[in-house]
Amino acid sequence: MHANDTIIAVSTPAGCAPRAVVRLSGQGAIEAVGRRFSCERDWRTTFTATPGTLSLPGEGGLRVPATVYVMRAPRSYTREDVVELHLPGSPPLLDMVLDELTTDGSVRIARAGEFTERAFLSGRIDLAQAEAVLAVIRARSEAELLAAGARLEGRASAEVASIQGELADLRALVEAGLDFGTEDIELISAADLLGRIEAAWGRIREQARTGQEDLSSDGAVRVVMCGPPNAGKSSLLNRLAEEEVALVHHRPGTTRDHLRRDVDVHGVNFALTDTAGLRTGGRGVEAKGVELARRLAGAAQLLVLVLDGSRPAADEDLAPARALERARVLCVVNKCDLPQALDEAPLMEVAAELVHVSALTGEGMEELREALGRAVFEGRLDASASDCLFNARQRDAVRRCAAHLGDARRAVQEALGSEFVALDLREATDALGEVTGAVTGQDILDRIFSRFCIGK
Ligand code: GDP
Repeated sequence: MHANDTIIAVSTPAGCAPRAVVRLSGQGAIEAVGRRFSCERDWRTTFTATPGTLSLPGEGGLRVPATVYVMRAPRSYTREDVVELHLPGSPPLLDMVLDELTTDGSVRIARAGEFTERAFLSGRIDLAQAEAVLAVIRARSEAELLAAGARLEGRASAEVASIQGELADLRALVEAGLDFGTEDIELISAADLLGRIEAAWGRIREQARTGQEDLSSDGAVRVVMCGPPNAGKSSLLNRLAEEEVALVHHRPGTTRDHLRRDVDVHGVNFALTDTAGLRTGGRGVEAKGVELARRLAGAAQLLVLVLDGSRPAADEDLAPARALERARVLCVVNKCDLPQALDEAPLMEVAAELVHVSALTGEGMEELREALGRAVFEGRLDASASDCLFNARQRDAVRRCAAHLGDARRAVQEALGSEFVALDLREATDALGEVTGAVTGQDILDRIFSRFCIGK
C-alpha cells in the first residue's frame, strides 16, 4: 500500500509572503533537491537546516537563496525522506521551482492531503489524528486550535481504542464459544457478558452523548442565555457581540427565536444562544420557544442565567439553572444602573459565579467577559467534553456503535443466541474502527484526504 514515488507541493498558503515552504516526500526527495542545491557543507544529514542556493537552469539560469531542511525516514511526518525548501514566497518563483523539480518525472505534484495520507498509511498517525491535522489547519480561534490539538494528541482515539479493544475481546469470547458449539463449554457467562456489554455501551454513549444538539461550530464553547422575559438577554448579547444581532423590544416575550452568535472572549470562541425565556406559563409567540429553550439549556456547556436586578426573581426563573450542576451556571444580574430589588442569596445556590452588569451602560461587561473566560480556564465546563474531540463523521460512527451495542445487549437479555451477539459486536467494533481508521473503506479515506489543501 505504501507509495514509493516522490511527491512535491508548496505547503504554505497561496499568495505572496516573505517566505514559502516547498515540501518533498519520498525516496527520491533528497536526490531531487541535491541536483539543484549547492552550499558549503553537507546538508544531507537528518534534522539539519542549511542555507544555500537553488539553481533553476531554465532561461537565464536563476539562482535563488534557499534553506534546506532534511528529515530522513523514518523520523519524519510521512515516515519517508522529507525535504523542505524554504524560499522567498513569490508565486511565480514557486511555480518555477515546482516545474524544475518535476521536469524529469522523478517527482510528481502531490494530491490534496497526500502528505497526511502518507503519514496515516505509514502508521505515523491514526485517522482521527489525520482529521485533527485538518482541523488545526482550519481552526479559526485558539480554543478550536486547542480542541483540535487534543485530538491530534490522540486523546479521543485513546478512549475509543480502549473500548474497541474491550469489544474485540468480547467478540472473541463469544465467537470462540460458537466454535465449540456445545453448551458445556462456556467461555463467558451470560451475566458477565451482559455486564461487560453494558459497561462498554455506557462508555460509548458517554462519547456520543454531547454534540447532538447542533448548537455550535466545531470547538466553540456552547453558552445558552436564559432568564425571564425582559431581563435583558438580547441587550446583553448585543453588548457582547458588540453589534446588533438580537432585536430588542420593550414588550416582554418578544425574543421569538433562539439567536446564536459567535463571540470571541480572550481567544475562546463562545457560541452564545439567546432563548425566549424559560417561563413555564409562556403563551403565544413565546410558548413555542420554551421547549426549544429547555432543550438548548440542557445541551449547553455553560448556562448564563440573566436576571433583572431591579425586580425580585420568581422561583421558576431559577429552574433551568437548578437543572444543571452549579459549576456550569453563571448568573448575570442585569440593570445594575437601576435601584436593586433582587434577593441574591438564592442565586449563589444555583450559580458558581455572580456578575453585576448593565447592558444599557456597559458597566460590568469586562467582568462578565472575565467570568466567561474563567469558566473555561478553570476547567469548570468539562471542556474535554467528547464533542470537542470528535467531528461529525466520527460522532456518527460512535452513535452507530452505540446502537449496535444496544442490539447486542438485547440479544443477550433475550437469549437470542451467540450468533446474534457476535454479529452485533462485530458491527459495533467496525463502526468504532472508522473513528481511528482501523477499519475504513477507501471511499472514506478519499473523502477525508481530499478535504486537505495541497501540500498538507
Ligand atoms: P430580553 O427579553 O431578556 O431579551 O430583554 P431585552 O434585551 O429585550 O431588554 C428588555 C428591556 O430592558 C429593554 O427595554 C431594554 O432596553 C431594557 N434593558 C436591558 N438591559 C438594561 C439595563 O442594563 N438597564 C436598563 N435600565 N434597562 C435595560
